[in-house]
Amino acid sequence: MRVLVTGAAGFLGSHLCDRLLKDKHDVIALDNLFTGYKRNFAHLLGRHDFEFVRHDVVNPIMFEVDWIFNLACPASPVHYQYNPVKTVKTSVMGTLNLLGMAKRVKARILQASTSEVYGDPQVHPQPESYWGHVNPIGPRACYDEGKRVAETLMMDYHKQNGIDTRIIRIFNTYGPRMAVGDGRVASNFIVQALKGEKLTVYGDGSQTRCFCYVSDLVEGMVRLMEYEGEGCHEPVNIGSTEERSMNELVESIGVATGKNVSVEHQPLPKNDPVRRKPDTTRAKERLNWSATISLEDGLKHTVEYFKGKLEEQTD
Ligand code: NAD
Ligand code: UDP
Repeated sequence: MRVLVTGAAGFLGSHLCDRLLKDKHDVIALDNLFTGYKRNFAHLLGRHDFEFVRHDVVNPIMFEVDWIFNLACPASPVHYQYNPVKTVKTSVMGTLNLLGMAKRVKARILQASTSEVYGDPQVHPQPESYWGHVNPIGPRACYDEGKRVAETLMMDYHKQNGIDTRIIRIFNTYGPRMAVGDGRVASNFIVQALKGEKLTVYGDGSQTRCFCYVSDLVEGMVRLMEYEGEGCHEPVNIGSTEERSMNELVESIGVATGKNVSVEHQPLPKNDPVRRKPDTTRAKERLNWSATISLEDGLKHTVEYFKGKLEEQTD
């Protein structure tokens, strides 16, 4: 297949490119380098089956491809709140442009959606049938509502134009190639622990998330793209079901880094979801997918990566 990956220089996008090339596909990697870095795929540059295009998805796009993975969008709250209007444009206009392209060239298209479509959920764990609890004018709305409209566009293009769509709802994922200054909790805590700084726990640290290692996530994403069975156009949750509070995560980071960690409490950001955990029954039944890497093992690999990054910075 000839495959377009948008957001390819980012954390997930770069791992997806590696996987697609391993599966013998030809990859066009598109990114505007807002939160992504060319170094994430530096090892792929120069290959005959890989090319990089610097482009912003809010502008029209023309390629002849078979598959499109639309991952372009800042994912860390710090980054997506930096320019909220641009975040909405990226999800809405970006997805529209890519759906227009999918329609023209009859490509299959997968949209990277998110657990944030459930907002601060009142149902636990969250199945795909749950409509969510999102504040439409809160600080997270640019991301949450943008992603919700993107899902709407995917379903309506499918129903109205017969586009071959897939929607993955990604829950918190971590691993190597998260940026040092990314702002998400796993990378923040690891970097702080390795630098001997206090870990910044927002609020009292009782809020929960489930952390999925990147290789598991990429496996789920590729399985969903390849899936052609019943309900293939419906959203599928992909994520770990090992639920941890941020206080428990602090403990795990202490073990993984081998450091004596201490914490500094900071105010809980507005509308920060209290509890989050995916119901992954659909992924299991349709894709035979469930997460396989424990938090402890995933953190070990991730800590190794960040140690290397921090050493490079002090060179
Ligand atoms: P990331 O910030 O590392 O990667 C996003 C990439 O998109 C970056 O390379 C960035 O430069 C690029 N980008 C942003 N706006 C763009 C635009 N307008 N045009 C072209 N490129 C643009 O984040 P990530 O964790 O790799 O997330 C990838 C996708 O997965 C995102 O769509 C995100 O919403 C989704 N997602 C990720 C998680 C997670 O835990 N990692 C959870 C839910 C959803
Ligand atoms: N968080 C924290 N300290 C940090 C960064 C984040 O305690 O330095 C908390 C944040 O308030 C949230 C959880 O960790 O409850 C996950 O935050 P992240 O930004 O990684 O992703 P989210 O799931 O909120 O989109």
